[in-house]
Amino acid sequence: MGEASAGRGKLDLPHSESDFASVRLFLPYIGGGFVEPESGERIAVFEPASGKPYAELALCGAAELEAAVAAASRAFPDWSARSSEERARWLERIAEAIEARAEAFAAAESRNTGKPIALARALDIPRAIANFRFFAAAIRQFASEFYEGAGGAWHLVLRPPLGVVGLISPWNLPLYLLSWKIAPAIAAGNTVLAKPSELTPETATMLAEVFAEIGLPAGVVNILHGPGETIGRMIVEHPTVRAISFTGSTRAGRDIAARAAPALKKLSLELGGKNPTLVFADGPWQERLDLLVRSAFANQGQICLCGSRLLVEASIYREFREAFLNRVAALRIGDPSDPATEFGALVSEAHLSRVEQAVARARAEGGGILCGGMRLTLPGRLAEGWFYAPTVIEGLPPDCATEREEIFGPVVSLSPFADEDEALCRANAVDYGLSASLFTADLRRAMRLAARLQCGMLWVNTWMLRDLRVPFGGIKNSGLGREGGFEALRFFTEARSIGIAP
Ligand code: NAD
Repeated sequence: MGEASAGRGKLDLPHSESDFASVRLFLPYIGGGFVEPESGERIAVFEPASGKPYAELALCGAAELEAAVAAASRAFPDWSARSSEERARWLERIAEAIEARAEAFAAAESRNTGKPIALARALDIPRAIANFRFFAAAIRQFASEFYEGAGGAWHLVLRPPLGVVGLISPWNLPLYLLSWKIAPAIAAGNTVLAKPSELTPETATMLAEVFAEIGLPAGVVNILHGPGETIGRMIVEHPTVRAISFTGSTRAGRDIAARAAPALKKLSLELGGKNPTLVFADGPWQERLDLLVRSAFANQGQICLCGSRLLVEASIYREFREAFLNRVAALRIGDPSDPATEFGALVSEAHLSRVEQAVARARAEGGGILCGGMRLTLPGRLAEGWFYAPTVIEGLPPDCATEREEIFGPVVSLSPFADEDEALCRANAVDYGLSASLFTADLRRAMRLAARLQCGMLWVNTWMLRDLRVPFGGIKNSGLGREGGFEALRFFTEARSIGIAP
């Protein structure tokens, strides 16, 4: 990983010498090589399950930013001039190289985020591989437009790349979301500065190793490390960077939009959510109970698409509550590295404490805790890990802060509704609009609600059913723009129309 080094700044070794032979150092990747940042500043990288540091992250500053911008600018003319077929083959090579070491990637993702290894194996890493393969296929099919005009004129719409673009991603699905941006950006011919979350830099560093190993032309992808408030903002504000594709909190999204505004940069913002799950009595909820529990607690509730407000038709409320709580109680909470674990640790101590505060506020707002509501202490090496019990709360007033604000952790509320109108009103009564799930057997009701639910993505009788061709994104405070399919390729290109007189 990166350059192995004992580094400065003493760190306790995580568990045993055999687990991590030396404290590793994750370095930025600039111009086709790993570099030591000039400032020498480093922060610790933690394993959430043990609460212990296991590596160091070298932080980038102005010198590394300028070096990365220069490398990306140098790479751009050649990279953008290559045929889309050639760029597609590079994406396929990247996918193959990740696949060849998929298990190491899954282990790293699980270690660095606290997510169950089963989830990293089934979701994160396969999806990162799929992202590169998907955009390799997509760029081959991404055609320029042609219109025949009056008098035999020709109208063409070309789609040249933007130039150097900035990509900033969060900690919850590190490689999955970073590759979801890198793949379309470079497929379209851009060169990039990519910044993973400073909390979860390991798989981004492994991805840089893949680039070095396969010989991806220098400067096409540069990976910069460090906090959003420093290097993140510097990427956003750099005059050479033509567009920012950001996934993260609404708070940071606003800051980015404000900083990008003076230079009128193109922006794609995938932000927070407070997604409702509507369960009607006629819906297939009994047979999809496992899915419903996953929709609430997958990745410890730290997926932007998780349903954090369960709205249940009053006639089945008690029955649903019992069945749901039984299934939540059966979740296997434990060491993320154990393949049987279904529920792991939260990403950081600070995040755990924010979740604790959110649950304290829910209590103060009149919520009754049906399960969870506390930090968990697991045995052995996990004793100081950042575990929080899956938590279900009921009895919250619709307009309280808990029902309106994103928690982004293993906390969901359960509320009964009398009829479709009340369900809709409650579902829409938030400033967010990312996704919603609806469980009903009534097609006409599904169609009525699909037209009126305020969200960018709706699932009927399912959750997180993804197809990489469809637009991904939210409305209201959940974001701006769409990722996925040709939408992403349109974002990473500039439409240029040309009219030719005969
Ligand atoms: P965050 O906004 O704190 O950080 C996200 C990334 O942005 C990190 O790399 C961070 O270093 C950087 N950053 C932070 N402030 C910045 C700034 N002012 N300028 C530039 N960069 C900045 O979010 P997080 O805590 O890492 O992730 C959780 C949030 O992400 C939740 O709100 C969640 O809903 C959201 N999210 C949204 C989606 C989506 O597709 N809509 C997907 C996953 C996560």
